[in-house]
Amino acid sequence: MTTDDSTTTTVYTDDDADASYIDGKTVAVLGYGSQGHAHAQNLAESGVDVVVGLREDSSSRDAAEADGLQVETPRDAAEAADIVSVLVPDTVQPTVYEEIEPVLDPGDTLQFAHGFNVHYNQIRPAEGVDVTMIAPKSPGHIVRRNYERGEGTPGLLAVYQNATGEATQEALAYAQAIGCTRAGVVETTFREETETDLFGEQAVLCGGVTSLIKQGYETLVDAGYSPEMAYFECMNEMKLIVDLMYEGGLGEMWDSVSDTAEYGGLTRGDVVVDEHARENMEEVLEAVQDGTFAREWITENQAGRPSYDQLRKAEKAHDIEDVGEELRGLFAWADDAPTDEQDATP
Ligand code: NAD
Ligand code: MG
Ligand code: MG
Ligand code: MG
Ligand code: MG
Repeated sequence: MTTDDSTTTTVYTDDDADASYIDGKTVAVLGYGSQGHAHAQNLAESGVDVVVGLREDSSSRDAAEADGLQVETPRDAAEAADIVSVLVPDTVQPTVYEEIEPVLDPGDTLQFAHGFNVHYNQIRPAEGVDVTMIAPKSPGHIVRRNYERGEGTPGLLAVYQNATGEATQEALAYAQAIGCTRAGVVETTFREETETDLFGEQAVLCGGVTSLIKQGYETLVDAGYSPEMAYFECMNEMKLIVDLMYEGGLGEMWDSVSDTAEYGGLTRGDVVVDEHARENMEEVLEAVQDGTFAREWITENQAGRPSYDQLRKAEKAHDIEDVGEELRGLFAWADDAPTDEQDATP
């Protein structure tokens, strides 16, 4: 365990995990999607008893059985388990929780990969159960692939309710069994994980970056440049730049681009994403913190997702999607995942 003095962040590794906290226990993995399939298979290969919980009519049943796992209904799986890992979609979790609550015993553990439902009180865990989170910072197929290669996936650990006094140790043993402690597990809280996750995906990652790309593309096309050129400049090259930052931070990116790109970027970046953008970000963060966004999203789901469907349609209809599809069809690089050989020369 290392603690960074400047931030008091605790990072756990394999040395901190003690498998005896999960040995002999049964883990019910509810859901067999992105995270579920990875947790279930990694746990099983680490020697943990796993039972997958899926509805009778779930299309994932075949996949889980083909992977050699025992499949039960969510309720039966939870009843048989000491640890119930809730890996169905966040919007479905409250309903599934109602089904399994009656079969949770004192001392059992409710284990999550995201804090939304617990933090915003959509699930109110029974007293007497431990409530923990191991949230890999990767999609499930990467969690699985890293484990198979003997590598790890960084993750987060949080404890919301520690009824037994052993919640942290058990969560660490779980993190080890899915491969996270090989890479490092950062301690956080349900609140911090939920709020930073929502803010990140809204303001920077999914929302911010797509708006930046679309507005850049539109600016060039509206000024008379070709959509193909606009696509390359504003969308395709994004990956090359992000890969450099992922590998070596902002510094490696600035070092790799031309001096002209560096000077232009350093002088014009804040012109585009200016103080207004920061104020807008603060507004977005406030709506996450005060629960406005959560209420909106819950209501939207209860109404059958009318606005969400509209927004999805509009996004699909954007010109950049057609141009991109054509161009990606023409170039071989679209099939090759790694871009290490490609040069980023904005
Ligand atoms: P997913 O959408 O990939 O899969 C969910 C699975 O749940 C489905 O495959 C199905 O097996 C089952 N399911 C779907 N609808 C159901 C229903 N109505 N009733 C019962 N079961 C149903 O979900 P995911 O992305 O793996 O997310 C699971 C949890 O992991 C969420 O809390 C999510 O926030 C968290 N998480 C996801 C990622 C990621 O990259 N996908 C990363 C970190 C944490
Ligand atoms: Mg039980
Ligand atoms: Mg327990
Ligand atoms: Mg998220
Ligand atoms: Mg260029």
